Amino acid sequence: MDDTKQIGFNKPYLTGKEITYIQDAVTQRKLSGNGKYTQACHEFFRNQCTFKNCLLTTSCTDALEMAALLLNIQLGDEVIMPSFTFVSTANAFVLRGAKIVFVDSRQDHPGMDESLIESLITPKTKAIVVVHYAGVACDMDTIMEIATRHNLYVIEDAAQAIDSFYKGKPLGSIGHLAAFSFHETKNIISGEGGMLVINEEQFAKRAEIIWEKGTNRSAFWRGEVDKYGWVDQGSSFLPSEIIAAFLLAQLENLKRIQDRRLEIWKNYDHSLRPVAGEHGFSVPHIPDYATNNAHMYYLICDSGTHRNKLIEKLRDKGINAVFHYQSLHSSPYYTQKHDGRKLPHSDRYSECLVRLPFYFELTETQIEYIVNSILLPK
Ligand SMILES: *Cc1c(COP(=O)(O)O)cnc(C)c1O
Repeated sequence: MDDTKQIGFNKPYLTGKEITYIQDAVTQRKLSGNGKYTQACHEFFRNQCTFKNCLLTTSCTDALEMAALLLNIQLGDEVIMPSFTFVSTANAFVLRGAKIVFVDSRQDHPGMDESLIESLITPKTKAIVVVHYAGVACDMDTIMEIATRHNLYVIEDAAQAIDSFYKGKPLGSIGHLAAFSFHETKNIISGEGGMLVINEEQFAKRAEIIWEKGTNRSAFWRGEVDKYGWVDQGSSFLPSEIIAAFLLAQLENLKRIQDRRLEIWKNYDHSLRPVAGEHGFSVPHIPDYATNNAHMYYLICDSGTHRNKLIEKLRDKGINAVFHYQSLHSSPYYTQKHDGRKLPHSDRYSECLVRLPFYFELTETQIEYIVNSILLPK
């Protein structure tokens, strides 16, 4: 069979153990949240990723909403974040009445330009949300230093950043709170799914209450209180054991999945980096302080027209390459609310960035076919 006929952008990878674990969860008839599979996932993150406190959630979106609740974000508070990100990064805080102050991306990387943050801080600023785009770290030392000096919280949107590091520290362990995604487009998946990481002891207890609909049920199950009830605001943020069972199967294969993804990334990079300039595009820049977790391989074309033509050319070859975020500051929902500052790099990534097919089962033959198609004249 010709495996280059149709190449999708993403194909969720299954390790083989997912059904076994789900079957076990079903057989044991423990299906709601916070059972043995949820605990096993938490244990994995504690031991393998050094996240002392973490809670699985039904999505990264939910984890970000939990973060906004934990920080008591109120009407009129300001939250600084990049414009080149997914809507959930902003929505979580907009739901609490916050005003979003968007920062431009770096010239050399879609992550936020840390040198622009300080000038945007006002007495109303409560938090900075960083987004580790493509799993590549923002300059966290600089950002944490600014936050400390101005008494602000830092939330890491680490949706794409599993198994990636900043100066040796796992992403998700540096800010006060962090949110991960296990959506089927990420490296490790559970269909829909996510996780909140709590790096500040002061938030640990309340996070668990918010997670469990504003009740102290988790403390009750541990025998710390003799009845449970409504003690705070909250919602239903915890996933069922079926989701956690699926996720555990993936986590147990983290290294194998990551090794293969890194091979794919290097394969693309080996062929495309040396010829990028002459073909009118650039390839990802990984700063010295960051690692690459092979979440994505993208090209930045020298114009929007070139990018759109490239997507079309690849589509004609049966290859589904895709653009990414539309700048949130000029989105239909926020453009009137934005303060009018131009964010040229964010707009440039919106117009010129294209993501190449990237998934575990992508073969060497397919990668070669994609690379050749990209380099084909016209
Ligand atoms: C995928 C993603 C999200 C949303 O994750 P869900 O689990 O689908 O809610 C948020 N932020 C970024 C940067 C993402 O890539």
